[in-house]
Order: sequence, then structure tokens, then C-alpha cells
Amino acid sequence: MESRNEFHRDTWVEVDLDAIQHNIQQIAGQIGLDVAIMAVVKANAYGHGYLPVARTALASGATHLAVAFIDEALFLRKQGITAPIMVLGASRPEDAGIAAANEIQLTVYSKEWVVQAVPHIQNKPLLIHVKCDTGMGRIGLKTADELREIEQEAARHDTIKIEGIYTHFATADETDTRYADEQAERFRKLIDHMKVKPPLIHASNSAAALMRRDSFFSIIRFGISMYGLSPSNEIADKLPARLTPALSFHSTVVHVKKVEPGEKISYGSTYEAAGQEWIGTLPVGYADGWIRKMQGFEVLIDGKRVPIVGRVCMDQCMIRMPENYPVGTKVTLIGRQNGDAILIDEVADHLETINYEVACAIAARVPRIYSKKNKSVFVLNSLN
Ligand SMILES: *Cc1c(COP(=O)(O)O)cnc(C)c1O
Repeated sequence: MESRNEFHRDTWVEVDLDAIQHNIQQIAGQIGLDVAIMAVVKANAYGHGYLPVARTALASGATHLAVAFIDEALFLRKQGITAPIMVLGASRPEDAGIAAANEIQLTVYSKEWVVQAVPHIQNKPLLIHVKCDTGMGRIGLKTADELREIEQEAARHDTIKIEGIYTHFATADETDTRYADEQAERFRKLIDHMKVKPPLIHASNSAAALMRRDSFFSIIRFGISMYGLSPSNEIADKLPARLTPALSFHSTVVHVKKVEPGEKISYGSTYEAAGQEWIGTLPVGYADGWIRKMQGFEVLIDGKRVPIVGRVCMDQCMIRMPENYPVGTKVTLIGRQNGDAILIDEVADHLETINYEVACAIAARVPRIYSKKNKSVFVLNSLN
């Protein structure tokens, strides 16, 4: 790994690689030795960083990687990742050649796609995973007829191999299992129709891997919970595994001022000091993923919760401090400080969204510091 140790700003993300390893070991203990793990590292590994997460996952027991798009897989290949990588989203048939040449496995759900892709494939065969839409309503074939057509078309070409068949649950993160039960049943029926069972059969995202023993098949697609997060609030206290969040987000007080009653803070002058107050400025804003709706939420300073006051700007925001903390004081936006912690889930609740979105939203320009065994091991700065 190229180590880029330089950055010159007082806001950063820390990623605890031991936590990623721990979470993979936890799920491995749940699913047993005969089920493999595909680590889902799409979207910059949910904001945690493609390469360090991919490497850690593979070193911790994952055998496969999954991304959403071919370009993400190509990036991993360029960085020297040789493990099998599958693309979960739709790809263009014209890109079948570059995928095959780079040993990138693609998602396919129509015979026509296979027909159109074949002329683009040269030497190495393309490995495909047939996607079944059993109730998610996103991508995938629905009928046994469509499945048979793909099987027959693939069988006509040496350059196409069916490596897997899979589906995706819409409600595996809910306690009511009925809809997911129906999906699992439809998936089983489709598999039964296959003439030749492919090496990989998969259905489980994190939620199903944690909550549905009947859905493991040969490999699970482990995303959000690899990062130590619950797939939903609804099942958060029912998880059979102890997960450790890997990501924390920090900033630093870069300016401190005492304001008088009535003084205003930030754009629109929406905040007015009620009395004499200590206001600190943080070099983090909506362009970092710390969006304007964070106004009114809290951060941790000196182990205490303090409010974000006034509008969040593109690159800065202000906090009201209980005392005169000096410039240079560390502020935690997500993570632990002394006895308290602000969890991603709490931020997500405040924003009326899900933890996935909060992690993915942390911008590329925020440097990432990676640690192992509590020691900082390297820094990734996307701007270098
Ligand atoms: C993103 C994704 C996953 C991972 O889901 P998590 O809930 O993060 O575990 C699995 N399968 C598909 C098809 C996906 O798009």
C-alpha cells in the first residue's frame, strides 16, 4: 500500500481495521465454515476506504469482494487486488470484454445481454452471476423461463460461464419475516429449475446473514455489519453478533471567541447568543458530508456534548462551548470521547436517514487515518 502520510487540515476520519477484522470473525462464527464471505466494498467501502477495507477483509477470512460498478472493480485491480470481485449493479454488454480481461464477475439478468456481450469478450471467459428479482423490484429476472434462456445461451459460448445465481432481500432488516420468507421461497424455486447449479448461490446481505439461517446458501454478501453497524434500528438489539463500529470522525477547534448577548452566528444569523458564550469554530462543513441539517445536533468536546449553533457552512461550522477551550482542542463528531459516544445511528436518526447514508456521505476530501492494534498505521488523503 502506498502510504500517503501528508495532510494539512484539522478534520479527519479514523478507521479501526481491527474492528473490521472483528466483525468478519463474528459473522464467520455465525454462518459456519461451509459458507464463504463476500465483503461488500462498494462506494469507497461505505466511506471507509476501498483498499484498506478490501485488504483487511481478505486477510480476515473474506474470499470475495463486491462493488456496485465496473470502475470500482478496476480501481481495486489497479491497486493490486487479485481476489475475485463481482459487480452487483447493471453493466453494459459492451464492457463485458474489459470485465473478463480483468477477471471481474458481472451481474446478468437477460439472455439479450449475453447475446450482446459475447462479441466483446476475447480470451478470458466472463464469469456471470444471474440476478433474480424475487421481490426487491430493482434488477433481476423473475421467471424460470428467463432463467432457462440465459442458461441455454450461456451454454452456447465458451466465453461465458455462470459462476453464480443470487437474489436480494427487501426487508431482511425487519422483525416481520413474512415478505423475506416469500422471497426466499421464490429464490429456492428458481434455483430448482437450473439444469446445472453454479458454484455460488447467494441471497444474504448483512441483515439476512445475521437473522436468517435459511438464507446463507454458499456465500453471504456482507456489507454494513462488516463496518460494525446494524442493518436497521429495528433489529439492532436482536443481533446475534457483537459488532464494533470501525469509523469515527473528528475535528479540532480552530478559533475561539467570547460573544456578548445578542451576537449572531453564521449565515442567515439564525443563532443569537442568549448570554455571554464561548463559540468555537470547526473546519468541517457540508462539503465534507457534515450537512446543513446537522445544525442543532451535538458534538463531543472534553467528553461533553455541546450543540452545533448557526448554519453549517460548506467548510466550517460553529459550536457553543461550556468554557474557553483552547484552539487545538479535539472535537468528536462521530465516535467515543471519554465515557460518552455519538454513534452513527444517532446522527442518522437526527437526519431521518439510515447509518449507511451517513457513512457514505463523508466526502473523499476528508483524510482517513487507519489504525491497527490501536496504532495509527497509515493515512489516505484522496487529494494527494
Ligand atoms: C449493497 C448490497 C449488499 C450489502 O448489503 P448490506 O446491507 O450493506 O450488508 C448486498 N447485496 C447487494 C445486491 C447490494 O447491493
